[in-house]
Amino acid sequence: MAASTDRLARYREMRDFSVTAEPSGTAPPPPDGNRFVVQRHRATRLHYDLRLEAAGVLISWAVPKGPTLDPEVRRMAVHVEDHPLDYFDFEGVIPRGEYGGGDVVVWDWGTWTLADADDPLSAIDAGNLHFDLHGEKLRGRFVLVRRGKGSGDSGGGGKEQWLLLHKHDDDAVEGWDPEDHPRSVKSGRTNDEVAAAPAASWTGHRSWAGPTPDELDALDALPAKGGMWSVGGLVVKLSSLDRVYFPASKDFPAGKGHDAVTKREVIRHYTCAAPAMLPYLDGRPINLHRFPSGISEKGFWHKAAPPHTPEWLTQWEFTDASDGDTRDYMVPESAAALAFLANYGGLELHPWTSTTANPYQPTWTLIDIDPGTKSTFDDALVLARLFRTALEHLKVAGMPKVTGKRGLQIWVPIADGYTFDDTRTWVETVSRAIGATVPQMVSWEWDVSKRKGLTRLDHTQNAINKTLVAPFSLRPAVGAPVSVPITWDELDDPDLRPDRWTIRTLPERLATAGDPLLPLVGMQQKLPSF
Ligand code: MN
Repeated sequence: MAASTDRLARYREMRDFSVTAEPSGTAPPPPDGNRFVVQRHRATRLHYDLRLEAAGVLISWAVPKGPTLDPEVRRMAVHVEDHPLDYFDFEGVIPRGEYGGGDVVVWDWGTWTLADADDPLSAIDAGNLHFDLHGEKLRGRFVLVRRGKGSGDSGGGGKEQWLLLHKHDDDAVEGWDPEDHPRSVKSGRTNDEVAAAPAASWTGHRSWAGPTPDELDALDALPAKGGMWSVGGLVVKLSSLDRVYFPASKDFPAGKGHDAVTKREVIRHYTCAAPAMLPYLDGRPINLHRFPSGISEKGFWHKAAPPHTPEWLTQWEFTDASDGDTRDYMVPESAAALAFLANYGGLELHPWTSTTANPYQPTWTLIDIDPGTKSTFDDALVLARLFRTALEHLKVAGMPKVTGKRGLQIWVPIADGYTFDDTRTWVETVSRAIGATVPQMVSWEWDVSKRKGLTRLDHTQNAINKTLVAPFSLRPAVGAPVSVPITWDELDDPDLRPDRWTIRTLPERLATAGDPLLPLVGMQQKLPSF
C-alpha cells in the first residue's frame, strides 16, 4: 500500500533527465471530465493548488502546506477561483506582475471520483466533499470540509477557508510529506529546474488585447473635442483629440521629416502597443512624464492617480510613502488604461521595477548607458558590447533596448528575494569592471557638469520608485521616437540608432521582429556574486 503511492519517484530521482533521453514523466489522465491535478506553485508563498475537474472548469483550492496521505494531519485549503481547463497541465512560469506570478510544476495528476454523493457542485455548495483520488502520488479517500458556518456563496471574491484531510484507509501513510516528493509527474523536473528553463509561460489570466478594427474606427470617428470610447469592454473619456502632441518636422526622420502627431494618434499608439507593453506594466505602479500640451511645452513628472481616474483602472496605495510623497498610484493593466494615461498627457511611461505585491523587491535589474554631451552613440555601442561579453561570461540573461533618445539600457530579469541594495551593488560592480577597461569613455560623476561630456553607467536607478522608460513608450522628442528592445546582434546593425523607431514605424517593427525581451519577463534568475 504505502510503497505504491509514488512508484515512479525513485525511477525519476535516479535519473538526470537533462542528460538522458529516457521518459521522465507519466501519461496525462484521459480527458473524461473527471481529472484532477495538483500544481506545486512558488508564488509570493509556496502552495499547492488542488484542482478538480467538474462542470467544464477546474474547481480549485490553494493548500499552503500541500496535500498529504497522513490521516492524522489536517491541512488548511483556501477555495479560490475556478480555473480554465486549459490550465490542467500547465507547467512553467507565470510572469511577475501576473496574478500568481512564479513557477509551477504539475506535481500530481490523475482522476477523481465523488463518494457518497451524486453532484459535486451541490456537495461543494454544502461545504462537504468526500472523494477518492487516483493519482501518481495521491491516492485514497480525501475530505474537503468548509470551516465554520460560512454560507455556500462567498459573495464574489471572498475566499473561504476549508480543511483538507485523508481518511484512514489502505492508502493512508503516516508521516507522509509532500515536500519529500517534489518532482513533476509531467516532466520529472523540480520547480527550480522549471524556473531556470521555463518551456511555457502563462499569460491567460488577463486580456491584453489591443483595440479591434471596429474600435479603432470608432476612435477615428470621434469629433475633435472627444467623447466616450469603448475599448476592450471598458469605456474611457477622451478629449481634445486633434491637439498636436508632436509638431511636424522637416528634419526627422532624416531626409523625410514627418507631419504632426496628434493626441488621437498617441492614443492609437498606446492602445495598439498594449499587448506588447502590458507585460512590463501589469502589477506595477506607474510614474508618468506628462506633456498635456504636447512636447513644445515643458513636461513634468506626475505619479498620483487623479480624482477622475476611472473605477476600472487599478489603483494602489503606497502605504510607506513619506509625507509629501505620492501615495495613490495607477497600475495600468488594460489597453483602456493606456488610453486614459495618453489622454491625460502621459506621453512617457515609467513603470516601477518592483510590483505592488512587494514594492521592496525588484524583478528587473537595470543597466543604463547614459551618453554625455561629448559622447557618441558609437561609444554607447562599445559599452553595450562590453556588457554583452560580461553577461555571457557570467551566464546572466539580459537584453538591450534603445531608449528612443540617445542611450541604451540593458534589462536583466532576476529571481525573487533580492533587495534594491543587492541589484544596485551588483550593477555598480559590473559597471565599474567594464568602465575600468575603457576609462577614457566613462565618468563616475553624478553631477552632469562634472562629467566632461563622458558616458555615465548609471546603477542608481535600481531603487524603489526609481524607474527607466518602459519598452514601447514614446519619448518626448521630435518625431515621436519609441524605446524598443533589440537583440544583441542588432548592436552591430549599421542602421541602428537610439531613435530608430517612431510612432509611425513601431507597428512594422513589432510585426516583423516581435519583442526579444519578452521571453525574459518573469524569469527567476539568480545573480552570480563576485
Ligand atoms: Mn496558485
